Amino acid sequence: MFSIGLTGGIGSGKTQVADWLAQWGAALIDTDQIAHELTAPAGEAIAPLRRAFGEAAIAADGRLDRAWMRQHAFADPAVRHRLEAVLHPLIDAAVTARAARARGAYLVYVVPLLVESGRWRARVDRICVVDCDPATQVARVRARSGLTPETIERIMSAQASRESRLAVADDVILNDGATDLAALRGRTWACHQAWCRQASRSPDGRAIHD
Ligand code: ADP
Repeated sequence: MFSIGLTGGIGSGKTQVADWLAQWGAALIDTDQIAHELTAPAGEAIAPLRRAFGEAAIAADGRLDRAWMRQHAFADPAVRHRLEAVLHPLIDAAVTARAARARGAYLVYVVPLLVESGRWRARVDRICVVDCDPATQVARVRARSGLTPETIERIMSAQASRESRLAVADDVILNDGATDLAALRGRTWACHQAWCRQASRSPDGRAIHD
């Protein structure tokens, strides 16, 4: 299936873009959502995370303690690598299983850390970056989550830079501080139409060559 790797920094707007693409008929595989499911109470990653990090990493209700993990993973790259060593193989297996079942005009993998991980280039036909200036990212994430600007900036500094994302992009959807939702929707629609053509599907999902 023709596939897009959709990425962008925290608060760039990739979830909004992905929601529209799904409404218009793309199949969606969200790696963040998979990670949340794996780390929910009784999720597949909980037992190996408990072995790797001890009881402190697991909240009282049995899910990964995300605040604990965020604090330790950002402070210590070795912790981050150990976390990735547990999660990446489980995420890959879930992605492969879902891709085999996916139905739609084309397939969109939503991968927040696509540029950082380096494992995605070979897996997708095109990389699409939702592009945003850092100040707008901070403002959006503050409004959405209530995280402090310091925490948001720490998350952003552990992510790829705007420039390194743009360097690997085949398609760019600009969603900066001057972009309202209507403009974002229009830019997303233009990409959707182009990808439908490349996947030989019409924008309403019908196969052109069937
Ligand atoms: P990401 O998934 O990249 O972290 P989201 O799609 O969740 O980002 O967007 C972050 C927040 O900003 C959401 O609440 C979203 O509705 C809002 N948002 C995104 N783009 C715009 C925009 N152009 N105008 C207004 N609000 C926006």
